[in-house]
Amino acid sequence: MKTHLLALAALLATPAMADTVIDNVNGIQIGAGGKVQHFVGLQIGDDGKVVRTLGPLDDIAFHGERIDGGGKTLLPGLIDAHGHFMGLGFAALQLDLTGIASLADLQQRLKAYAAANPDARWIVGRGWNQESWPVKAFPTAADLDAVVRDRPVVLRRVDGHALVANSAAIRLAGVTAATSAPSGGRIENGLFVDNAMSLIEAKLPAATAAEADAALAKAQEIMLGYGLTAMADMGTSADGWGAMNRAGATGGLKVRIMSYAGALPSLEAIGRTAPTNWLYGDKLRMGGVKLYADGALGSRGAWLKRPYADRPDSVGLRFLTDAELADQAGKAAAMGFQVAIHAIGDAANAQVISEYEKLSRQYGSDRRWRIEHAQIVDPADIPRIAKAGIIASMQPTHQTSDRLMAEKRLDPARLGGAYAWRTIEKTGAVLAFGSDFPVESPNPFPGLSAAISRQDPQGQPPGGWRPQERVSFETALAGFTRNAAYAGFAEDRIGSLEAGKWADFVLVDRDPTKVDAQALAATQVLETWVAGKKVWVKPASGGSAERGR
Ligand SMILES: [Zn+2]
Repeated sequence: MKTHLLALAALLATPAMADTVIDNVNGIQIGAGGKVQHFVGLQIGDDGKVVRTLGPLDDIAFHGERIDGGGKTLLPGLIDAHGHFMGLGFAALQLDLTGIASLADLQQRLKAYAAANPDARWIVGRGWNQESWPVKAFPTAADLDAVVRDRPVVLRRVDGHALVANSAAIRLAGVTAATSAPSGGRIENGLFVDNAMSLIEAKLPAATAAEADAALAKAQEIMLGYGLTAMADMGTSADGWGAMNRAGATGGLKVRIMSYAGALPSLEAIGRTAPTNWLYGDKLRMGGVKLYADGALGSRGAWLKRPYADRPDSVGLRFLTDAELADQAGKAAAMGFQVAIHAIGDAANAQVISEYEKLSRQYGSDRRWRIEHAQIVDPADIPRIAKAGIIASMQPTHQTSDRLMAEKRLDPARLGGAYAWRTIEKTGAVLAFGSDFPVESPNPFPGLSAAISRQDPQGQPPGGWRPQERVSFETALAGFTRNAAYAGFAEDRIGSLEAGKWADFVLVDRDPTKVDAQALAATQVLETWVAGKKVWVKPASGGSAERGR
């Protein structure tokens, strides 16, 4: 009798299983075989996980809530395989210099921001790109002094690999004409490149916890508005990890974060000696470590095998000796972390591939070593990527933003291995796609569009840049869903709408399989759902979550 009562009590305490069905949708996803799958409905359990997708002939007699999808197109939640989560939020709260057209434009924005923020002790901004100005010269300290002299000013380049500081900031940093740049860095006229940036950044007042929380909230709102339900955070700091855990513990984390500690010092500051489990309902996991082999192409920090075409005295910046790289990657691998290494130039990519070949021999095949960017790879090295089980984590919109600059930095022979998505894919490597936000907009639709067209959202250049490197729609969407999940050891939870995985999905305003590349780039997200709950709806005004970039 007693057991019966307990059973009855348990039965009464458990709410009736109430599934939800969203039907009348145009469901599209990439299946395990890499082909497009169509479905007309999605059944979601009250645990927020997918019960099943529904075909047109499926019997969906059940007791629960039924939602009419209105014929809208439904896609799995998009995943950015390489972004900077806190950076996106902080950038949105700082002086935004993306898209400015000239030095005069930069100065005008700086002046207005300084006037509007009289209490800011430091003025921090990011997003300028001298390559898109009529005069393609780097800004100087004197250019900033002409506008703001009373306070330090630090403005990061769009790629995050260089900053320009005014004289007040340089003075506070104790940098003089006699200061020599640290190795892997360069200083010229107030421009601090790569490792030299730390001379200035070390003086920046750290964000308070409240500022970090505000940045996190901002970042996830921007992501959800673009249909991103998950991302790989490539270089989590101890402060960022703290903010993510505060949000997770209070139920405030709305997106899923696959965290890669920002190199070994960050890992040490965070205090991890092994990957975490998935935390907070699979919202957060630290599974990897991010390392850097070189800088970026725009600031000529990418490490090349032969000198830059437009700077014959330089091969760029090599960050680590082979022994240093082996030491850092080896330590991370020995602790069980996935290793992700930034490599842009062909010399850096060759160095990283060689290190991964050694690690593969030691650890076997399924460690999913990642190269972040793999932008300029010597064609002779490309077949080695798949052979060593390396995932190529690439950013389609870097190609459309960088092509004119890349043509100047590199001679035509080296362009054969530049942003070579299709060539890399053909050798059997997994392509995971992202945006590197806030370097590029986090909007994945221009990324999908660039992936299939090698054109920017305006359709430039006609026919696509090096169009032989276009990939199929299936590869593009897999890169932003299924393969992005695989690249983060999360394919058992996210990346596709299959039984037992989270019901993370989006409703969008068009069918991506039925529009051209330019229309695909302009896709608008209508609703974003995470774990079977609607977490973002497009504002009635018709504006997107963030102003266009
Ligand atoms: Zn990055």
